[in-house]
Amino acid sequence: MMESAVFLDKDGTLIKDVPYNVDPARIVCYSDIFEPLRGLQKRGYKLIVISNQSGIARRYFTAEDLDVAFSALHELLRYEHIQLDGIYYCPHGDVMDEPQCSCRKPLPGMLYRAAKELHIDLKKSWMIGDILSDVGAGRAAGCRTILVDRSKEERKQERISDPKYTPDFIVDDFYGLAQLINSEKVDYERYSIK
Ligand SMILES: [Mg+2]
Ligand SMILES: [Zn+2]
Repeated sequence: MMESAVFLDKDGTLIKDVPYNVDPARIVCYSDIFEPLRGLQKRGYKLIVISNQSGIARRYFTAEDLDVAFSALHELLRYEHIQLDGIYYCPHGDVMDEPQCSCRKPLPGMLYRAAKELHIDLKKSWMIGDILSDVGAGRAAGCRTILVDRSKEERKQERISDPKYTPDFIVDDFYGLAQLINSEKVDYERYSIK
């Protein structure tokens, strides 16, 4: 049987964004993520982190450094009774510099790979992130998408009116997000952009 997943951006979505940080001591989860993630997990959604990590291409840190940071994230979530089912990251720089990359969001490569490896039905899955590149990746992969626009700034981006980047829903934070996903009546015509 094919599984459903909630794909999650990391920086600015699950944890406070500290650019290019791999120091476990500086990883701080947003406190509003725990309850919704537990709820989604209980409903049978796989929880999978999908993250651009160009700090590797830029040589700010190594894949080993990143593994330490990811282990710390696993641990912080496990402490809250949340089990991540996978973490996928793109180590490449900008697509201009690395045309061979098919995974840096807004490209959907990481979602395709996760779907293949973890037997996920992308059409029954969601992509959640704090910027429109996350939305773009989700849409390109055929997922439904939610923009968690904590600063209320991202929704002002011009490209949000491009169908490739238009989220199904915009929320200010994680509260209510689980209910949104759990409600079976997702109506594409009804979402509104403030
Ligand atoms: Mg982000
Ligand atoms: Zn890549």
